[in-house]
Amino acid sequence: MTKPSDELLKRAYAQDASIYQETPQDVAFPASAEEVVALVQSGKSLIPRAAGTSLAGQVVGDGTVIDTGRHMNAIVHINVEERWAEVQPGVVRDELNYHLKEHGLFFGPNTSTSNRCMMGGMVGNNSSGSTSISYGTTREKLLGLELVTADGVLRAMGDIQSDGMRDIPSAVEDWLVQWQDAWRSQNLEAHFPDASIHRRNTGYAIDLIGNDADALLSVMCGSEGTLGITTKIRVALDPLPPAHVAVAALHYHSMDEAMGATPKLMAHKPYQLELMDRIILECTRESKEYASYRDFVQGDPAAILLVEVRGESEAELAEKLAALHCEHSYARAELFGGDSDKVWKLRAAGLGLLSNVPGDAKPVACIEDTAVRIDVLQEYIREFDALMQGFGQESVYYAHAGAGELHLRPILNLKTSKGVRLLYEISKASAELVKKYGGSLSGEHGDGRVRAAFIKDFYGPEVYPWMESFKMAWDPENRLNPGKIVGAKPMNEDLRYEVDREEPVLDTQFPFSEEGGFLRAVEKCNGSGDCRRLPFTGALMCPSYMASRDEWDSTRGRANVLRSVLTEQSIAGFKAPELAEAMQHCVGCKGCTKECPSGVDMAAMKSEYLYQNRSKRTIADKAFANFHKSL
Ligand SMILES: Cc1cc2nc3c(=O)[nH]c(=O)nc-3n(C[C@H](O)[C@H](O)[C@H](O)COP(=O)(O)OP(=O)(O)OC[C@H]3O[C@@H](n4cnc5c(N)ncnc54)[C@H](O)[C@@H]3O)c2cc1C
Ligand code: SF4
Repeated sequence: MTKPSDELLKRAYAQDASIYQETPQDVAFPASAEEVVALVQSGKSLIPRAAGTSLAGQVVGDGTVIDTGRHMNAIVHINVEERWAEVQPGVVRDELNYHLKEHGLFFGPNTSTSNRCMMGGMVGNNSSGSTSISYGTTREKLLGLELVTADGVLRAMGDIQSDGMRDIPSAVEDWLVQWQDAWRSQNLEAHFPDASIHRRNTGYAIDLIGNDADALLSVMCGSEGTLGITTKIRVALDPLPPAHVAVAALHYHSMDEAMGATPKLMAHKPYQLELMDRIILECTRESKEYASYRDFVQGDPAAILLVEVRGESEAELAEKLAALHCEHSYARAELFGGDSDKVWKLRAAGLGLLSNVPGDAKPVACIEDTAVRIDVLQEYIREFDALMQGFGQESVYYAHAGAGELHLRPILNLKTSKGVRLLYEISKASAELVKKYGGSLSGEHGDGRVRAAFIKDFYGPEVYPWMESFKMAWDPENRLNPGKIVGAKPMNEDLRYEVDREEPVLDTQFPFSEEGGFLRAVEKCNGSGDCRRLPFTGALMCPSYMASRDEWDSTRGRANVLRSVLTEQSIAGFKAPELAEAMQHCVGCKGCTKECPSGVDMAAMKSEYLYQNRSKRTIADKAFANFHKSL
C-alpha cells in the first residue's frame, strides 16, 4: 500500500458528522499504547478520534488528529464468567457484540451508529442511544480505562489489566480536595441538570465526584478526549435480551399528543421507546433502501411512538402488549420478531436521511441533544415549539422520547449569514430554555464545538470555573482536544461552508440536475459514516473501505476530499493529485447508491471524475479507432 499524501489526510480528516470543518496539522495512526505515549510526549496539540461520527465537532480541529481506530482495534479479552470485556478504542460496538453473541452476552448502550462507531468514541462521548432506558449509558458500563495523560504517562484507572501507573496526576488530586470542600460548603448541585436525568453530557460530570472520589473514572467517560488518550477500555456486559420481541407503533395526529402519552407508556417499562416525526417519515419515503420498511405506517401521522417490549415467552409478550396504554393514538401497528427490525432500521437511518431534504437549507445538529425529565417533556416541547415559531422555524422531532431526549433540529441554510446568525440565536435561546427546565444541553452527543460555547452561561460563575480548573489540572498546556467542553471558540466559526460565498458552478459532463449540480450532490454527504461498516454487518457499502479500513477509501472520505478540492479549485479540482488517491479504489459498485441514507452516489461521481481526467486521444489512438474504415 502506498503512503497517503499529507494533502489527502488533511482533507479527509477535516470533518466529522457535524457542521464544522478545520484542516488538521497532520494525522497520526498509532498502533500501540507506546506509540500514543510518544505522540503525547511530542508536545503537539492532539485530537483523539475513533470513527469520527460525532455530531458536535468533537474531532475537528487544527492540531494533530490521532486516529486511534485504524490500528488499535483488537478485542483484548472477554471474561464470560465475570461479564466484562477489554477492548482497544477502535473496536466497533456491533463488532464487539457480534463476538459476544456466542457467549450469550452483549454491550448494552446502543447508538444509531452502532455498526461503525467505536468503543473509544462511545467512552469519549458517553454515548447511549435507544436502549438507555434499559441499560443506561456507556458511563454506567465503564469498569476501567487505560489512558495516556497530558504528561505523557500511561495510566490505569478502575479495574483493567495494564502496566500503566495506578495514580492520578497530583494536580488532579489537589483539585479534588478543593472541589469536595466547595461541594460540601456550597449548594453547587443546584447548578447541574436534575439528578434524575440519566442522560447528562453537558460539561464535565464533576457533580459525580462531589462526595465520591472513586467516581472519577465515570467523569472520564464523556470528557471528549480532553483529559487523556484512551488506549484500552474495560466494559461491563449484560446477558442477551429476552428473545421474544414486539414493537407497537403508536400513531398520533399531533406531537403534543405523543409527548403527553410518553410518561404513561414509560410506566410500562418498555425495552425501548422512540419517536419519529412526519418530516423524518417523509425522508424515508424516497430512500431506495428504506422505503420498503415503512409499510407499517398508517395514514399521515404527525408522530409515531415506537414501543418495544420483550419477554421470555409469547404469552409474556402478549400480556405486555395488551397492557400498553394507547390514549390518543389514532392507529396502532404491531410488528413481531424479525419484522420489528424494519422499524429500528428506519429509525436508525433517520438522522442520515435528513440530509435528503432538497436544497441548501438542511436540518442542523445544534440543539439536537437536549434532555429533560419526562414528566415535563410535553410542557418543554410546547414551549420549544413556540420558541421555534418565533424564529419562523419548523423543527424536526425525533429519537429517545422515553429518556426525555428528543433530537430537535431547526432547518437552516448555513451557506448564508442569516442562517449562521439563526444558528447562534436558536442555540442560545434553546440553552436558556433547557436550563429553565433543569435539563441537560447534551444528553448523549456531547458538547464538542457546537454546545461548548454555552456551557459557561449554563453552569454560571459558581460552577464553570471549576470545570476550567479541572481541565487545567489534567492538561495544563491545553493540548488535548483544545476548545472542546471548556475554552470554546465561537460556535459559528469554522463551518463547512464559506458564508455567503458565490456558489461555484461546475461545467460537468453529467448534469446532476436533481441535486442542483455536482457540488451539491457531493454536499449531500453529512458525515454520518454509514459507509464505514465492516463485512460482519453484511453491508454492500463500501467495499474499498472494508478492504483497507482507510477513511479516504470510504464514500464519506471521498465526498469530503471532492467537496474540499472542488470548492477551493472549482473544476480544476478534479485534477488534484489527492483526489486521484481518494478515487483510485472506488470500484463503482453503486453500493452507496443503495445504502447511503443521504443518497450519495459515488459511482456516478466516479464516472464524472474519470471523464474529467480522460486523456486526450493521440493520433495513433485515432488511427487505431478508425482502422476499420480503411478496410
Ligand atoms: C446518524 C447519527 C446517529 C447518531 N446516533 C446516536 C445515538 O443514537 N446515540 C448516541 O449516543 N450518539 C449518537 N450519535 C453520535 C455518535 O455516533 C456517537 O457519539 C459515537 O459513539 C461516537 O463514536 P465514534 O467512534 O464515531 O467517535 P468519534 O466521533 O471519533 O469520537 C468521539 C469522542 O471521543 C473522543 N475519542 C475518540 N477516541 C478516543 C481515544 N482513543 N481517546 C480519547 N478520546 C477519544 C473524541 O475526541 C471525541 O471527543 C449519532 C451520530 C450520527 C452521525
Ligand atoms: S461506488 Fe465506490 S464509494 Fe460507493 S460503495 Fe462502491 S466502492 Fe464505495
